[in-house]
Amino acid sequence: MKFQVCSLVMIGLVAGCGTKQTTSTESATAGESTKPATGTVEQPQEKPEPVIATAPAQQPVAQPVAKIAPQTQFEPTTQPKTKSPEKIVKTDAEWRAILSPEEYRILRQKGTERAFTGKYDHHFKEGTYTCKGCGTALFDSTTKYNSGCGWPAFFKAKENTIAETIDRSYGMIRTEITCKKCDGHLGHVFDDGPNPTGVRYCVNSASMGFIPAADEKQAKPAPKPNK
Ligand SMILES: [Zn+2]
Repeated sequence: MKFQVCSLVMIGLVAGCGTKQTTSTESATAGESTKPATGTVEQPQEKPEPVIATAPAQQPVAQPVAKIAPQTQFEPTTQPKTKSPEKIVKTDAEWRAILSPEEYRILRQKGTERAFTGKYDHHFKEGTYTCKGCGTALFDSTTKYNSGCGWPAFFKAKENTIAETIDRSYGMIRTEITCKKCDGHLGHVFDDGPNPTGVRYCVNSASMGFIPAADEKQAKPAPKPNK
């Protein structure tokens, strides 16, 4: 008898310990099924259409089927073959902060400096002409020549640095040249250049910077160690 009581107590204890407080967080609405829509609108009984004795069946006229043009594939087919340099995008205020008023007028507002006034018009030192806006190397001094047009002229630009756009301003059709990297206006390109290219890049001096060849060499690591 005593053993039985003990057993019962034990069972009770075990049961008490082992039972976890089940947190009943089951959603009360979980079991609820969505009620079927009650107010089903009854479709009005369609009246049978009166059969009209029409004229004898006409010859089936070929319905003018609207020709559906094949879906145009909007694939980026105009992607340049060569990867363009990453664009530099600045606000007007940022450009004004780093450019002189004249540089800003020409580079950002497509202005033109007066002929024969630019500092590189008669500048024939050895080096590299860069974009004044972003520093991209645009022309090598070996491609510069005296065109006599009043602006610095080059017969060749460095590869993949310059974009060309048709410019119809001032009643002329010209080809505007801009820096591919910062979209800065540089000038125009004409097809009256010398050999070997036959083109003339006519560039505003204010659009460019210049790195003398001596400085370029200094910037590079010395090719030969001293002794
Ligand atoms: Zn640039």
